[in-house]
Amino acid sequence: MIDVHAHLTDPAFSDLPEVIARAKAAGVLAVVTSITDPADMPRAKEIVEHHSGFVYLTLGLDPTFLSEEKLSEFRAALNAAPIVGIGEVGLDHFYVRGAPLMETQERHFRECIRAAISLGKPLVVHSRSAGRKALEVLYSEGAERVLMHAFDGKSGDALAAAKKGYFFSIPTSVVHSDQKQKLVRLLPLESMMLETDSPVLSPVRGERNEPANLVHSARKIAEIKRIQVEKVIETTSVNASRFFGIDMKFTSSW
Ligand SMILES: [Zn+2]
Repeated sequence: MIDVHAHLTDPAFSDLPEVIARAKAAGVLAVVTSITDPADMPRAKEIVEHHSGFVYLTLGLDPTFLSEEKLSEFRAALNAAPIVGIGEVGLDHFYVRGAPLMETQERHFRECIRAAISLGKPLVVHSRSAGRKALEVLYSEGAERVLMHAFDGKSGDALAAAKKGYFFSIPTSVVHSDQKQKLVRLLPLESMMLETDSPVLSPVRGERNEPANLVHSARKIAEIKRIQVEKVIETTSVNASRFFGIDMKFTSSW
């Protein structure tokens, strides 16, 4: 399995070596960790170098950072970063409300999308309480390589995006989220990947999440779609490996 979205630089992971060891033991082949504050780059680089071939990095910009300073730090970090994608970036209408702030947020999002397109990198998109709007912005910018993470919008909007080739990563919270289960029912497996969003979105409410929990997403998808869990793991791993350009040797038993 590949965990396409986690935050291993989070202070919750003071025991990172153990967390990584448990992930490997649980069958995780790679973790894509995301930073949303360019200031976290030194720590992220350290983790990626230390776990080379297992941890990969995406650089994003927290949608609640609305200052010009953070946007220019993001621009500067882009050129110096060993990244496999841009993200998470996007819209957050849960925390950011009111026209002027939402306009700034959208302007930042558009700049991040353009950066991804010009660098030829895939995008990992956050769209809390802004699913449809985020998709509209992506369409209008002509974004093609897109992963919508922990999508909380309407399943119909997700299906329309999947038909355009967009991917959706299903978080471990799918075990208790009716909205995520509905998303899984409607989307084809070919449009899905697996994520934990560690340390949040745990399969057990209130607990710290970690990449070793990824199998909970795979099992729930298999149960909903009435297919073998191996099929879920195979398809989502191939999707993730191609999307991020991560070279993986998958076992032939699949
Ligand atoms: Zn996240």
